[in-house]
Amino acid sequence: MAIENRYAFFDGEIVPIERAKISIMTSAFNYGTAIFEGLRGYWSDEAERLYVFRLHEHIERLRRNGRILMMDLPHPVAEIEHAVVRLLRKEAFREDVYVRPLLYKSACEIGPRIHGDPCALAIFAAPFGRYLDTKNGIAACVSSWRRLADNAIPPRGKITGAYVDSALAKSEAILNGFDEAILLSEEGLVSEATAANLFLVRNRELITPPVTADILEGITRATLIALAREDGIPVVERSVHRSELYVADEIFLCGTASEVAPVIEVDRRAVADGVPGGITRTLAARFEDLVRGRSEDSRGWLTAVDGSSRRSGDAGRD
Ligand code: PMP
Repeated sequence: MAIENRYAFFDGEIVPIERAKISIMTSAFNYGTAIFEGLRGYWSDEAERLYVFRLHEHIERLRRNGRILMMDLPHPVAEIEHAVVRLLRKEAFREDVYVRPLLYKSACEIGPRIHGDPCALAIFAAPFGRYLDTKNGIAACVSSWRRLADNAIPPRGKITGAYVDSALAKSEAILNGFDEAILLSEEGLVSEATAANLFLVRNRELITPPVTADILEGITRATLIALAREDGIPVVERSVHRSELYVADEIFLCGTASEVAPVIEVDRRAVADGVPGGITRTLAARFEDLVRGRSEDSRGWLTAVDGSSRRSGDAGRD
């Protein structure tokens, strides 16, 4: 990826990305002791601006997750939101982008630990299109890798080191001819995909594993639960057996990168008719309209990157 004229937020300021460098001795690089976030900015041709989706919730999640690794944000949440907006303005992207804040252990000491060390924040952004085939749907397998348990590396923490688990499962799936992996927890219950939460539909009811199923507490997951309830679709958070994946009427994955991705096949078994289901398509369309600013943003979930944010009293204004 070309990095000319690209920028990052690093050590409290926006700098050319070549200057945003860390030492090979950095604890986070050696031990995976960092927490990250992933946000999307959606380019709107009609409005000629980027909309960042749920900026506040992502930075708040970073702040809260920091506690798991005994890290405090080096700047207040509002300032970090503002830094994201300033970075995107500086980059002047006119396409969909991904934004990656990283809160990391910056000490250069030998030995893994989480206490007492300084931490730092870095943010970069990059153009980013579709991650999964949200139109035609994807083929998934149940991974031979298990989801990390909360008492090993808490998946809710979005801890960088934990993503080795996701990387093992994702590559195994791709190399075996699938698009994505679904991981079971140590108890053998359905947890989530490698970078996305999972929903299934049975008898017109939306079902998703609970926050105690070793999942990341996804912001897209929460968004879709809200949209579904608004549309009168019942939503249940409960344990899900592997074999329910084979008998479900519909399955979809959701996440910032993944958006709403229909699963049309699991372990070589077609999901229902093997095409994206009706509830999945309805929710995907609602989501797409919302994030691109085509429907009313009644909850203030969009931050416009042009100095005229819709959020009141917020990060979008300079
Ligand atoms: N699960 C995992 C493991 C993830 O990495 C992600 C992506 N952040 C998600 C779920 C979806 O979370 P969100 O909707 O907040 O992006």
